[in-house]
Amino acid sequence: MTGVDQRSAQGVGAQLLVEVRLFHEMLLKGGNRPLFVRKLRENLRTVLQGLPVGRMLNRSMMALLPLEDPACWPELRDRLEHLLGVERFGRVWRVAPDLQAIRELLARLLEDQVATSFRITARRSDKSFPLNSPQINRELGAYVQGMTGLPVDLEHPDLNIRVHVTPKEGLVGLEEHRGPGGMPVGVGGRVAALLSGGIDSPVAAYRMMQRGCLVLFVHFHSFPLVEGTSREKAQDLVRLLTRYQNRSRLMLVPFAPVQQRVILTVPPAYRVVVYRRLMFRIAQAIALREGAEALVTGESLGQVSSQTLQNLATIGAAADQLLVLRPLIGLDKAAIVAQAVALDTYATSIIPDEDCCSLFVPRHPVTRSTPGEVEALEASLDVEALVREAVESAEERLFDWPHRPPRPSDGG
Ligand code: ATP
Ligand code: MG
Repeated sequence: MTGVDQRSAQGVGAQLLVEVRLFHEMLLKGGNRPLFVRKLRENLRTVLQGLPVGRMLNRSMMALLPLEDPACWPELRDRLEHLLGVERFGRVWRVAPDLQAIRELLARLLEDQVATSFRITARRSDKSFPLNSPQINRELGAYVQGMTGLPVDLEHPDLNIRVHVTPKEGLVGLEEHRGPGGMPVGVGGRVAALLSGGIDSPVAAYRMMQRGCLVLFVHFHSFPLVEGTSREKAQDLVRLLTRYQNRSRLMLVPFAPVQQRVILTVPPAYRVVVYRRLMFRIAQAIALREGAEALVTGESLGQVSSQTLQNLATIGAAADQLLVLRPLIGLDKAAIVAQAVALDTYATSIIPDEDCCSLFVPRHPVTRSTPGEVEALEASLDVEALVREAVESAEERLFDWPHRPPRPSDGG
């Protein structure tokens, strides 16, 4: 809070807190709303671990976090910027819910402000408060103007003074930050995302997190046939995405044995489709074992030859027991890249690596496969054994954010 003397505000009996507003879509949840709000508060407590924040105060569609040590603000801010379900947040001063207390607080807060213009943005969640929001705006606007001589600028104020009156308190803040919005992770169930080292699949996984899903990651690599870059990239990507769900599991699946078997009998033009179908089957087996209810891919219609309608159908048919979700299907590359940049995954995704599916495939794979012809080619493979061996040889990696030291129960 620039220019705010903490002690002077404490001098008028004010307490420094962080006001966290919950994503507005949760308001539409009707009977499920208490469940969503409870989940978000639970996730909030998880990300607050280890920070000097007092007992959380619950209010309608928001939470108040007493800041016991203001020095933790940069760290707290970073955590709230990644907490799904948070609409906005900011530091606020808390006084009694009456206009005189708010005026006294404003006088202290604005003592050393060097703004060129201001506005008041008032809300009240206490409908019995004698003034409504426009009346509070006018009343406090006149007060601040009289005290500071600053002009009001409703459109582009230099200082936006936010006042919120709840049944229990008056809150005044001079800043506001955006959370990521979305649904709290955990309310949407569990999904397994096929994560390559590319640009698209991390974005697809994030979009499912944003709808409340806990994502289990599955990455296929051809190490040691190629160098291990894609495995490293997958781990770096999961580390970045874990900021949005606090705890992730990544399964690293060796795919080289599958590919070495496929090249013996499957003609080059069909290999990408057959590889993908095997990936879907392996991911499905892992997902079913782990209680995930759907597979998620970064496929986008027409982006590459394996992503024609016919090939998507042929590949998707291999996951015969689970729903396959393709959150990017109708997005163009520029929109996906923009989201990858916003998520910070882009820089990692563009590090060159050898994609396991570029091994032993021609420049022009089939674009119009049918499940029938591909099944005929797969008849030469012991699909069941290949899937079982891949699932058994998968290595698991765990990720925590904020980082916690590994616990003995965490396993491998
Ligand atoms: P991405 O940018 O996610 O790599 P892409 O546009 O390169 O996607 P493909 O290479 O055809 O498209 O991959 C389509 C989808 O298949 C990916 O988005 C991902 O979900 C899955 N996939 C591809 N390769 C792998 C892999 N090595 N491990 C796990 N999933 C993979
Ligand atoms: Mg790719």
